[in-house]
Amino acid sequence: VQTKLPAVGTTIFTVMSGLAAARGAVNLGQGFPDFDCDPRLVHAVTDAMTRGLNQYPPMPGVPVLREAVAAKIRTLHGPHNGRDYDAASEITVTAGATQAIITAILAVVHPGDEVIVLEPCYDSYVPNIELAGGTVVRVPLTPGTLRPDFDKIAAAINTKTRAILINSPHNPSATVWTRDDMLKLQEILAPTDVLLISDEVYEHMVYAPAEHHSVARFPGLAARAFIISSFGKTYHVTGWKVGTVAAPAPLTAEFRKVHQFTVFTVNTPVQYGLAAYMADPKPYLELPAFYQRKRDLFREGLARTRFKLLPSEGSYFQCVDISAVSDLNEAEFCKWLTTEIGVAAIPLSAFYGNGFDQRVVRFCFAKKDETLNLALERLAKL
Ligand code: PMP
Ligand code: GLN
Repeated sequence: VQTKLPAVGTTIFTVMSGLAAARGAVNLGQGFPDFDCDPRLVHAVTDAMTRGLNQYPPMPGVPVLREAVAAKIRTLHGPHNGRDYDAASEITVTAGATQAIITAILAVVHPGDEVIVLEPCYDSYVPNIELAGGTVVRVPLTPGTLRPDFDKIAAAINTKTRAILINSPHNPSATVWTRDDMLKLQEILAPTDVLLISDEVYEHMVYAPAEHHSVARFPGLAARAFIISSFGKTYHVTGWKVGTVAAPAPLTAEFRKVHQFTVFTVNTPVQYGLAAYMADPKPYLELPAFYQRKRDLFREGLARTRFKLLPSEGSYFQCVDISAVSDLNEAEFCKWLTTEIGVAAIPLSAFYGNGFDQRVVRFCFAKKDETLNLALERLAKL
């Protein structure tokens, strides 16, 4: 067959998890928790199953879940001049953020349209744009700080630009956009009709003094945006693959045209279970403290190695510069670290189209303390 995605092989996450399993390494590579979710959440889902909520839900998702999501956005972002979302016409439940992202892209990108991504970026964005027939325009985040360069973003926009994809808190760099960053983007996009896809899956993992400034807080951005979230990240259930997209009604209508003929809808009992569980805001309000403690434990341990720590303001990732530890390139270093030291990590080069190597690798600290301590014990040899 003539491949549609010549540059695509197996994702780095699958490769590194496979290697970690084969070598019995501590897997701090692929981003997922190694601890279980709240048993009350499991109970809420099994309860829905037991009550016979097992047939197709409405195409955009069960109303109670969409209402809970709209209410959460209102509570968290409303007081910041945030946009109000109508549960019926502006919130859609998806099979994880991954499906939300590709569906938004397929819904609005025409062949030949340019779509801006900020590199390094999550690995699904570029193939998604290519599948839609779009042209990928890569704008680098500033090397070193991995913060957005708004002059470069502005310079990349032209009449062919259809959309820009942003992601804060950011995977892989763990940086978080400031309010000022969001305002700058709003100013740049104001005279254009460029659409915005905002991947906010790590919205509840932000460590003070950083704060999550959702696109929902900026009316000039929200009016043109798909805002994407994932329950997998927030509730420690990455395997459930349920997310949401919030977008103004005309954008949601286009989104749902694609959604209804790709997945149609998302499994019913999990949606009811999530809706019931969301009645209590504590689990997501307590998430920053929960992960900040793990981040600090991990950073304290790493500080005793020759790795140079980069800031981790949000997400469950910690990046380190490996220059003082090894001469290997990032990808080779990650393989070596997994096989010889017994700790898996992800090379940042995997998040660049040209494999740009800045001697930085990413660890995931969404792990039990004992897992982090075992990894730190092994890394202490470096
Ligand atoms: N976007 C980013 C930035 C991610 O890190 C992930 C998860 N690795 C996703 C999207 C996909 O989320 P989900 O598992 O809900 O599809
Ligand atoms: N989002 C996770 C990460 O960045 C991995 C998701 C996946 O395996 N596709 O590590």
